[in-house]
Amino acid sequence: LTQLFRPLDMLGMVYRTIRQGLIDMAAMFRLIDMPVEVADAPGAPALIIREPRVTFDNVVFGYDPDRTILHGLSFEVPAGGHVAIVGPSGAGKSTIARLLFRFYDPWQGRVLIDGQDIREVSQESVRAAIGIVPQDSVLFNDTIGYNIAYGHDGATQEQVVAAARGAAILPFVERLPQGFDTEVGERGLKLSGGEKQRVAIARTLVKDPPILLLDEATSALDSRTERDILATLHRVSAHRTSISIAHRLSTIADADTILVMEAGQLAEQGSHADLLRRDGLYAEMWARQQAESTVQAEAAE
Ligand code: ADP
Ligand code: MG
Repeated sequence: LTQLFRPLDMLGMVYRTIRQGLIDMAAMFRLIDMPVEVADAPGAPALIIREPRVTFDNVVFGYDPDRTILHGLSFEVPAGGHVAIVGPSGAGKSTIARLLFRFYDPWQGRVLIDGQDIREVSQESVRAAIGIVPQDSVLFNDTIGYNIAYGHDGATQEQVVAAARGAAILPFVERLPQGFDTEVGERGLKLSGGEKQRVAIARTLVKDPPILLLDEATSALDSRTERDILATLHRVSAHRTSISIAHRLSTIADADTILVMEAGQLAEQGSHADLLRRDGLYAEMWARQQAESTVQAEAAE
């Protein structure tokens, strides 16, 4: 009987391997894929940004017609402000990021940048205004220099070096015998998670966007690397409008405003101190995460 089952086991393994491959692909394209349904209006002008404000005005949206994900969401990120979005997994946080980048259009309501409905301006200009640092940055099998300049064919060597410096990866690159010409990726040098995130930050710095969107940008890193990368991200976002989506609340406690999402709705909003005083969902999540990190710290001793 075991003999009979062995080929099935093999098949199961092959299936799991393929399935894992598909999941990795899905993860890679989570933020990069472009649904075809979103198109520019004929002759759509470019977005003009004087003050990079971001506004969600009563946004209703779902991926499938029979399932609403965002139920009339409104919030505003003032120009130069730092807003964090937190909440349980599946609450709709990344959906907000996808709508802002205009991968999809809302069913109702509007998404505005500096007062302009992003449906009425060119997609290209919207995407040029927003720098995204996702959870797992994808590197191309090419040189570090190529990966930093990616998407900006016109980037000069000086811009690439300045971006690497801003992302605090320049010393690392300079220690490599081939410097910026070092091949990375599958056949080249394997970078750690933190190094990959620094390359992604450098890529964003070359783009120099007025708006930064960080979707769990440090959540795949160990806590020490996370602290280092957060320090870099703070510096990089200082003079920009930023939206940070985060699971670990300790990473966003200093945001001007924290939006607490629950099931596609804004459950609470305020500063960290406001939300702790309120003693609601945020305070509960905070207490739970503090307890977890204490247990982990004790285990590590
Ligand atoms: P969060 O980032 O808060 O974890 P998401 O915004 O990614 O949550 O997802 C919100 C809900 O939308 C989840 O229930 C998720 O399953 C669903 N969802 C996300 N992406 C898609 C998609 N492409 N098609 C259908 N449903 C989706
Ligand atoms: Mg998400």
